[in-house]
Amino acid sequence: MIFLISACALFLLIALIRTRSRLATSESQNLRLQQDSEALITRFEEGHQREIKRLLDALPYAFFSINAQGKIIRLNQNAHEIFGERNILNRSIRQVFFDAPIVEEIEKVLNSPGKRIQQLSFPADSAFSKKSNKKESHWELALHPVSIERDSIEVQVMMRDISANIETDQIRQDFVANASHELRTPLAIISGYLENLTEEDGLSNEAIAKKMLTVMERHVVRINHIVEEMLLISKLESAKAAPLKISTFSLADCLNDIIERLELVIEKQKAQVLNRAPALQMSGDLFYWTQILFNLIENALKQNTQSPVTILITADQKESGMIEIKVSDNGIGIPSSDLPFIFKRFFRVEKHHSRNQVKGTGLGLSIVKRAVEAHGGQISARSTPGLETTFVIKAPQPPICDSPLSP
Ligand code: ADP
Repeated sequence: MIFLISACALFLLIALIRTRSRLATSESQNLRLQQDSEALITRFEEGHQREIKRLLDALPYAFFSINAQGKIIRLNQNAHEIFGERNILNRSIRQVFFDAPIVEEIEKVLNSPGKRIQQLSFPADSAFSKKSNKKESHWELALHPVSIERDSIEVQVMMRDISANIETDQIRQDFVANASHELRTPLAIISGYLENLTEEDGLSNEAIAKKMLTVMERHVVRINHIVEEMLLISKLESAKAAPLKISTFSLADCLNDIIERLELVIEKQKAQVLNRAPALQMSGDLFYWTQILFNLIENALKQNTQSPVTILITADQKESGMIEIKVSDNGIGIPSSDLPFIFKRFFRVEKHHSRNQVKGTGLGLSIVKRAVEAHGGQISARSTPGLETTFVIKAPQPPICDSPLSP
C-alpha cells in the first residue's frame, strides 16, 4: 500500500517536473522566438534603409527630406557632397542653408503643402556654387510635401544643377545679339548708300557713285564672310550632324598651299613667313586643319599691316602620340588683359581696329578653337606685345601606317 502511495506520489512528482520543464521550455522558446522576430525586423528595417539609401544615392540630383520642424532628416550622397565635411543631418535648414531663398521655398511648402518647382540662383560664396565651381550657379528645385501622420508632413527637396543649360542659353542669346549687331552695321551702310544712289541725281557724279559702290561691295563681302563663318561654327558645333572627314595628309603641302594663297598679301606687306615644320604626315579633316592654320597665319599678317612682320611656323611630333604646332609672329601682339577673351565669338582687340578700317569678324579664333577641339586637341596663346605672339596647338595624332599599296 505504502509502495502504491509512494509510486503515485513519485509519478505525480515526475509529471509535475515534466510539466514545469515543458512550461520553462516553451517560455524560453517564446523568448527566443520574440528575439528572432525582433532581429528579423531590425534586419529587414536595416535592409530596407540600405535599399532606400542605395536608391537615393543613385539619383542624379541632390535629395533632402525635411521634417515639420524644419530639420534635415535624410539626404543622399549628392546632397552630402555639396556640404563637404559638414555634418548636416538632423540640423535645422536655417543653420545649414545660408541662402535665404531656399529656406523660404521649403518653409512655404511646410506652411501650405503643395508641390512647387522653382529655379534659384546662388552667389559665388554659396555652397551650391562652390560645388559646381561657378561664379554663380543655377539650380532647379522640386519640392514635394509628403504626409507622414495625420497632422505631420515632410518636404522632399530634389535639386538639379542647371548652370550649364543656363550658360548655353546665355551664349546662344549673346551669339544672336552679336551676330545681328555685326550684320546690322554693314547693312545700314549699304542701304544708306543705295538710297543716295537711287535719288534723282544720285548717279550724276560718276566718281562719287563709283566710290559708294566700292564701299558697298566691301560691306557685302563682309556680310558674306560673317555668314560663312557663322555657318562654319554651327557645323562644328553639331559635329554629330556633320562628322569630321578624317584622312591622311601632308602638313608641308597643307602649309605650302596656305602660304601660296596668301602670297599677294605677304608680298604687299613685305612680310616674311618661315615654314620650319618638318615633313609630317597628319591624320585629320584636311578642310578644318587648313582653316585652322590659314586663320592663324592670316591673323598674324592682318594685325601687322603697319610694319613688316616675321611669321614662324614649327611642328613637332611627340613620342606621346601628340603633335605640337606653333605659329609665332613678332608683331604688335595682344595685351594681357585681352588674351583670356580672344577665343570668344565676336571678340576683337579694339585698339587693333581703327575707325575707318573694316573690322575683322572676331570669329576666326573661335573657329580655330572649335576645330582643334573637334580633333581632340587644345589651343593656347601667349603674347609679349611687340616681341612675340605664339599660338600653340596640341592635338593627338594616331600613328599613321603606310598603306602597302601606296607608291
Ligand atoms: P578677327 O576676325 O578680328 O581676326 P579673330 O577671332 O581671328 O577675329 O581674332 C580675334 C582678335 O584677336 C583679333 O581681332 C585681334 O585683335 C587679335 N589677334 C588674333 N591674332 C593676333 C595676332 N597674331 N597678333 C595680334 N593680335 C591678334
